[in-house]
Amino acid sequence: MKLFVLLSFVTLLSFSAMANVPTVSYTLGMSKPATHLFEVEILLDGIDVNGSWLELSLPVWRTGRYMILDLASGIVEFDVFDGTDKNLRWMKTDKSTWTIELNGATKVRARYKVFANELNLRTRGLNDERAFVDGTAVFMYTEKYRWQPITLTVVPFGNWHVTTGLDSVINERNKFIATNYDYFADCPLEIGNQKDFSFTVEGKEHVLSIAGKGNYDAEKMIADISKIVKTHAEFWGGLPYERFVFLLALSPGNGGGTEHINSCAIGARPFIFKNPDSYGSFLGLVSHEFFHTWNVKRLRPVALDKYDWTKENYTKELWIAEGTTSYYDDVLLVRSGFMVESQYLDKVSSAIESDRGRPGNLKQSLSECGFDAWIKYWKNTKQATNFETDYYSRGTAVSFILDMTIRQKTKNKHSLDDVMRTMYRRFPLGKGGYTNSDFQNACQEVADTSLQQFFDDYVNGTKPLPWNEGLAVAGLELQEKSPDKKPWLGLFTNDDGDKTKVSRVIAGSPAYEAGLDIDDEILALNGYQVRSGSLSSRIAEMKAGDKVELTVFREERLREFEITLQNPAVTLQRIMKVEKPTPLQKKIYGFWLSIPTQKKEKK
Ligand SMILES: [Zn+2]
Repeated sequence: MKLFVLLSFVTLLSFSAMANVPTVSYTLGMSKPATHLFEVEILLDGIDVNGSWLELSLPVWRTGRYMILDLASGIVEFDVFDGTDKNLRWMKTDKSTWTIELNGATKVRARYKVFANELNLRTRGLNDERAFVDGTAVFMYTEKYRWQPITLTVVPFGNWHVTTGLDSVINERNKFIATNYDYFADCPLEIGNQKDFSFTVEGKEHVLSIAGKGNYDAEKMIADISKIVKTHAEFWGGLPYERFVFLLALSPGNGGGTEHINSCAIGARPFIFKNPDSYGSFLGLVSHEFFHTWNVKRLRPVALDKYDWTKENYTKELWIAEGTTSYYDDVLLVRSGFMVESQYLDKVSSAIESDRGRPGNLKQSLSECGFDAWIKYWKNTKQATNFETDYYSRGTAVSFILDMTIRQKTKNKHSLDDVMRTMYRRFPLGKGGYTNSDFQNACQEVADTSLQQFFDDYVNGTKPLPWNEGLAVAGLELQEKSPDKKPWLGLFTNDDGDKTKVSRVIAGSPAYEAGLDIDDEILALNGYQVRSGSLSSRIAEMKAGDKVELTVFREERLREFEITLQNPAVTLQRIMKVEKPTPLQKKIYGFWLSIPTQKKEKK
């Protein structure tokens, strides 16, 4: 494989020379890690002599995080030279673009440093222990030569080594190649003393790279990840890459992950691996990021088929890219045997509580939520819970109900699984991407019926989700958990150091009606000091109709609020199997979660 890559690259280089386009090479240094400064050099050799100007830009966002990050804010000490090392004139022409006056130069060497101190954001980070690079946050590009092949030479600090999904140049340590900038920028680099474990699944090489110490069992993790890879490969029909890298970084406060074209970057706290619940959540995150290898990295919404690095890439389909991925990350964990049915059904019942308890779900549609992600979702604004939906959790919920709808309409002959595979075949990467309408069409074809009303109500509209109907398809029903209701304030709090602050106030709740606000610092309930835990336990001992006095600091002023407690608007529910399921309900339940015995029957 590597030999093939090398030959192709040589071919591309000769083609470049013939077509009078420059070779593009990058060098990445990190000689003083404690300063958090990367040293970057970009060399463009053989520039079109007809051009008078050359623009170098840094993307304003990175993939997977749909918000403007203005990454160029970290660029310092920019300078540029021609082939004789003479300075070329340059000026900033927008916040992320450096425009260079070529003055006849056909060779340009740009140098700059990047302040990188955001390791847990998975954009760029460098300290005296490790370095992480998401290419969009460190490497500038020229739009004119964006699709040219690229070489990268990394000069690691000390005895550090590089782990990346990029192909390496044979017999050249720390030299890598990419077919174009977008591919290059989508292959993050981990540089440090990370431990790399190589393993094979379905004949393809996989690498688990672990940076940082923790209480993990590498052998077990490799076995578990291999099983996840196999289940996903079975779902999609094969693995779409030659080599895949799981970049795992362990540090306090770390969490979350980012998908990439042939790798993913996952953050976790160091000591979560012995606890079955936290390890289960970790595997869920692995499953999520890995599902993205198909859904969003290859099967892409229209606006993301070819990224626009200069501005927002508006997409109404993030509920599919993220929500459907979130739906399947757990479903495939159940099918892989990592989550038992009861655990999964408990998760679904919690999802129902959160869905019903978020007023914003009835104010903003999923389409609008995706489109406005750039200005709302990722900003986590104060009004989010009350006025915005969430394309992750609501998208998961709608995917579940859509799956059940298709299974019911086709008497379990088809499911959302078939829709995803149809979409994947129909919209190959680079051919334009898909829209919500394309997805609706695929669903309708698979279900062999119109789903216009479904999409009007739950994708483009804000109707309450038909949970009972969806669950009934698989022979499940909701039952109230505790008939003796505990009263409700309707606010959420965070303990931070010695302060307890209001983080959310649910619209229509007693706290909302009484005038409590986000950031109020809670001091006392009925004159006695409380923190988050004691506040909720003392409220739980009271009853609806009781009046309480909450004392808070708001902007350094002492304020008191009288609140009349009520019963919560959403009661806690648990999912149970119906007493006498029909044969179809039984069949759907078995096929949906692929309980092994039922799966055997299928074959
Ligand atoms: Zn995701």
